[in-house]
Amino acid sequence: MNYISTRGAGAGERHTFSDILLGGLAKDGGLYLPAAYPRASADELARWRTLPYADLAFEILSKFSDDIPADDLRELTRRTYTARTYCNVRDDEQAAQITPLKTLGVENGAPLALLELSNGPTLAFKDMAMQLLGNLFEYTLAKHGETLNILGATSGDTGSAAEYAMRGKRGIRVFMLSPHGKMSAFQTAQMYSLQDPNIFNIAVEGVFDDCQDIVKAVSNDHAFKAAHKIGTVNSINWARVVAQVVYYFKGYFAATQSNDERVSFTVPSGNFGNVCAGHIARMMGLPIEKLVVATNENDVLDEFFRTGIYRVRKSAETYHTSSPSMDISKASNFERFVFDLLGRDPARVLQLFRDVEQKGGFDLAASGDFARVQQFGFVSGSSTHADRVDAIRDVFERYDTMIDTHTADGLKVAREHLQAGIPMIVLETAQPIKFGETIREALLREPERPAAFVGLEALPQRFDVLPADAQRVKDFVASRTGA
Ligand SMILES: *Cc1c(COP(=O)(O)O)cnc(C)c1O
Repeated sequence: MNYISTRGAGAGERHTFSDILLGGLAKDGGLYLPAAYPRASADELARWRTLPYADLAFEILSKFSDDIPADDLRELTRRTYTARTYCNVRDDEQAAQITPLKTLGVENGAPLALLELSNGPTLAFKDMAMQLLGNLFEYTLAKHGETLNILGATSGDTGSAAEYAMRGKRGIRVFMLSPHGKMSAFQTAQMYSLQDPNIFNIAVEGVFDDCQDIVKAVSNDHAFKAAHKIGTVNSINWARVVAQVVYYFKGYFAATQSNDERVSFTVPSGNFGNVCAGHIARMMGLPIEKLVVATNENDVLDEFFRTGIYRVRKSAETYHTSSPSMDISKASNFERFVFDLLGRDPARVLQLFRDVEQKGGFDLAASGDFARVQQFGFVSGSSTHADRVDAIRDVFERYDTMIDTHTADGLKVAREHLQAGIPMIVLETAQPIKFGETIREALLREPERPAAFVGLEALPQRFDVLPADAQRVKDFVASRTGA
């Protein structure tokens, strides 16, 4: 499998899965994609239907990573996708499924279900890919005798998923910046209670933007970056995207009796990583009818899929909402889909994303390209806070099921795209306990708390407080990496 950049640079070069695993953007600023999508044959689909999650993950991932020996990859997926890691299920019998499908009911003739993706250690769907990434990083680094120091900034979710994936991994340290005193007690405890010596929580005396600015400043110091082997784990990482392809297959098999049936998925979306994986599953031949992109008030993606106009938002137009993990001004994985939409023409992708940098967006409405969005199965919708509160209340009353604000966004938008006879699967991206305030508002009761999280806030915490100063952070990192 060869990987190419969406912007076309280095077209003659070869990049394997392992080559791009630890990197970020391609050197021309584009994103990596396979030179061609592998197909799942009818025989394979038939055989995969009954596989346990870890073995299904092996089958799918091996099509994208043929440079990793099969026995090693099988061992990595079996170590990653265990009932012990994905144990935070509401029904114990379901843990072995890793991503259980919870049937709600039939609405407008369409069976409606939730695919539970948030039973991992941090109760959000990012664990699905990040846990695999931790094991892949450790494996690849050991093979080449290398080490990696991951530097990141978080306002809550991504940082904890990264820490729980990398804790205790040989050859890896994590330096995670978070705004001191600005996260919820639950989020703070989730991160700061980790006692693993390779995890460094740095509480920055500032806001999230200060944390991000420091990461940028350190990353722009190329000499420091090289000397201290600094890397990141952001949402454009290809391995994260491809690991997410697996649960579209798993969800499809759980919702259908045979591979002749079609299903639709609704995906609460921010950076377009999750739904991009759905697009790839569809390109591989999984019978997906519609991919419904659900946004909150930050509706950059909904606007595009309705009008063909992609318009990056300024910070004053980017809202803090009750589904904060979808609060984005632009969607960092979107370029991958645009590349396919434009018939994989890197010169045009380069031009469009130059327009994004220079003019803040582009308009495909007039060109014939936008009409092809339908061929790719994409439709969209958005929600407001009131919509999400209504959805949480309605699903609780009607189906005795508590959902979080991101999943509520998905459910609201899914209901606008139901088709009789076609199952609609809403991806459940987080558990309600993570967004307790809105649960209390909607249901006038406390969110459900998985057993492993009882007493979390009372555990001893380990973190260092630093001023919002890039040099002080560099000094801290240097003193812990000893280079
Ligand atoms: C990250 C996240 C999303 C958005 O996923 P993308 O891959 O960025 O589109 C949605 N819901 C939750 C709970 C998340 O943590």
